[in-house]
Amino acid sequence: MDNDCLFCRIIAGDIPSSKVYEDELCYAFRDINPQAPVHILVVPKKHIGSCGELTEADGALLGRLFAVIAAIARQEGLENGWRVVSNVGPDAGQTVPHLHFHILGGQRLSDRMA
Ligand code: AMP
Ligand code: ZN
Repeated sequence: MDNDCLFCRIIAGDIPSSKVYEDELCYAFRDINPQAPVHILVVPKKHIGSCGELTEADGALLGRLFAVIAAIARQEGLENGWRVVSNVGPDAGQTVPHLHFHILGGQRLSDRMA
C-alpha cells in the first residue's frame, strides 16, 4: 500500500467509497463524479501506477480484473453495451496514479460519446 495514493487509501478503508465489489485481488467502487449513468472504477488492490507499468507477470491479475469487470457490467444491467477505459499519463487525463478501469454504461451513453 502507498499511503500517498488515494485509491490505496480507499481500498484500505481510510477514505469512504461506494463499494460495488471486493475480493482478495480487486476492489470496485462508484466514481464520485460520474460521466455516464453507470460509472464504476475497478482497481487491483496491489499498487500499480497505470497500464504503462504492466508486464506479462500481471496476466493472472488482469484476467481476474476483466472477469470482475464483465460480472459487474452484467450485474448493473448493461446488456445493451458499455465501455471500459483506462487512462495512462497526463496527456490521457489520468488524475489518480493507481491503475483503474472505468466501466461506463447506461442509456444514452452513445450521445455522450459523440
Ligand atoms: P482518471 O482521470 O482516469 O485518473 O480517473 C480518476 C477517476 O477517479 C475520476 O473519474 C474521478 O472522478 C474519480 N475519483 C477521484 N476521487 C474519487 C473518490 N474519492 N471516490 C471515487 N472516485 C473518485
Ligand atoms: Zn495505490
